This record gives sequence, structure tokens and C-alpha cells, in this order.
Amino acid sequence: MMKPEELEKFRNILLQKRKRMLVNLRHTLNTDMTLNSADLPDETDPVPGECPQPFKFRLRGRERAFIEKIDKALIRIIDGSFGICEDCGEPIHSKRLEARPETTVCVRCKEEHELREERQFAK
Ligand SMILES: [Zn+2]
Repeated sequence: MMKPEELEKFRNILLQKRKRMLVNLRHTLNTDMTLNSADLPDETDPVPGECPQPFKFRLRGRERAFIEKIDKALIRIIDGSFGICEDCGEPIHSKRLEARPETTVCVRCKEEHELREERQFAK
């Protein structure tokens, strides 16, 4: 199991990434008409685990997927499944977590996913 101070470290990395992403989204608002400013949460909005309701907002595309990944990772820190591969149940290497704390699968399973996707595209 991961130590509490390690979890805290990853939690801080995730919160920083999340905040940075929201700030970036704000900057693109003026140029991107597909985004409505009312859809954007405040940087001070509660994060998962700090409010009883899962935090939801309407954003499209890559940014949304990324923030959802981060939120999921934050929930996993709270429920104790953070750092465990969703697919095979093995611990995810700490170097990989440091680079991408939002990840939910180990390198081996990630590669398998990618291979599967490549095969689908090849059809
Ligand atoms: Zn795995």
C-alpha cells in the first residue's frame, strides 16, 4: 500500500494539474466559441472528496476527458485504489505515477490497450 505522504504528494500534483487546466480553458474561452463561460467551473470549485456530490460540468473534448481523469484519480486516492492498475490489479510503477498521476493502468496494460486500438484501426 502507498504511504499517506506519498498519496498526499500525488494529490497535490493532481490538484495543480487540474487547476492549470482550468486556467488554460479560461484563456481559450475568448477564441473558442464552442465553449460557454457558464459551463466553466471556478478554480475554487470543490474537488472530489471535498464535496459529497461528484463535481460535474459540461465541457467537450480532450480537456474534459483530462479533467475527468484527474477527478477519477483524486477519488481513487480517497477510496484507496490509487496506484493500482484497473486492469490487472498490480501496483503501477511510481515513476509512471510521477509522470502521469492521472493514469489508471500500468504500462503493460496500457500497451495492450494501444495494440488493441491499432488492430481496430487496421480493420
Ligand atoms: Zn495492468
